[in-house]
Amino acid sequence: MISVSESIEILKSNIQTLGIEMRDLIDSIGCVLSSDVLAKVSVPSFDNSAMDGYAICFESGTTDYLVKYNIQAGDTHVCTLNENEAARIYTGAPVPKNTNAVIQQEIVSVNGSNISFDKEKVKLGMNIRTLGSQCFENQIIASQGVLVTPAILGLLASAGVFEVKVYKMPKVSVIITGNELQKPNHELEFGQIYNSNEFALIGLLKSMGISQINTYQVIDALIEVEKTVYTALENSDILIVTGGVSVGDFDFVKQALENNQVKSLFYKVKQKPGKPLFVGKKQDQWVFALPGNPAAVITCFNQYVKPSLLAISGHKNTFEPTAILPLKNTFKKSAGLTFFVKGKYDYQGVEILQGQESFNLLSFNAANCIVKIDENAESLEIGSLVEVYPLD
Ligand code: AMP
Ligand code: MG
Repeated sequence: MISVSESIEILKSNIQTLGIEMRDLIDSIGCVLSSDVLAKVSVPSFDNSAMDGYAICFESGTTDYLVKYNIQAGDTHVCTLNENEAARIYTGAPVPKNTNAVIQQEIVSVNGSNISFDKEKVKLGMNIRTLGSQCFENQIIASQGVLVTPAILGLLASAGVFEVKVYKMPKVSVIITGNELQKPNHELEFGQIYNSNEFALIGLLKSMGISQINTYQVIDALIEVEKTVYTALENSDILIVTGGVSVGDFDFVKQALENNQVKSLFYKVKQKPGKPLFVGKKQDQWVFALPGNPAAVITCFNQYVKPSLLAISGHKNTFEPTAILPLKNTFKKSAGLTFFVKGKYDYQGVEILQGQESFNLLSFNAANCIVKIDENAESLEIGSLVEVYPLD
């Protein structure tokens, strides 16, 4: 049995990205950029008005200006102002040549086709967004390693970028094992339980932006598990299995994986919940076999599978805690195992919740994080600092 920190080191030192692909901009949301992205055009690509008002060719001696043009956003003709001339103009519209200020309409008096205003309020260059004031053509606007968020989509589109190179996202297969499992829309027979792991795992994967997911369900019989592992590995980068990985007479997952040439990286971690966690590889494919207890599945996914999938997709520092916060309540355990407990954190600290059994999902109703309690810790006082891993 290895420690949590040893198991994380093994994962970190074996993980590689899957390669690079070109995606249409809209389909790159949630991916990580694999190279710097350059602006296709300067933004803005022409000097334009930041206000609804009047573009003028300002002369310090002049008080009255003739309004010669009316320029709307989207107008594409080029106008030129001469001395004493102005143009009615709107936000985003191109300013005429020779414009040196845009006067907002609130401080302008209109008299027929002439305007006047208080000269003292004019500053040269006011209310003009100059060409390239966001970025120039060929400037780096998003760097390699940046996550494509909705705001990044907006930034890239603003500079005319319509496709990007990103790290490939993994294709994932999920195998659910257990004779006792029933779908939530069926009546339970005596001895059956509802299959919650499938819902939790699919939800966890989808919330990470992983869209290529195949799910299989299999009974506890070696030949069936072995066949299902074979099929699942045919068509995926990552295989996640739940249940059947412990030491019971009907736990066939380890044997089925071995029979499919999956090599163990580690099996059994000094942790609670999720002690019988298995992680292995078949060439470049990864297998995470999680014990079936539902809270252990969610915890092991959060601590091992999620950071691995993120690292494979090009993210950095994925195994680091999001915060180190003071405990709001005390906690006792015996030394020897790392505990991952459900907690609720805010900017002031973190509270460890009741109901930590590995079969018990109810505390997820209040939880927003997993708290890591060190292997050697025994009794933690209020204010002790702990690592916090959000659950979103
Ligand atoms: P196992 O790891 O297969 O020994 O399962 C451990 C516990 O988790 C048992 O009580 C199982 O009934 C339960 N369990 C296994 N798979 C699931 C599942 N998909 N959904 C809910 N509970 C499960
Ligand atoms: Mg089982």
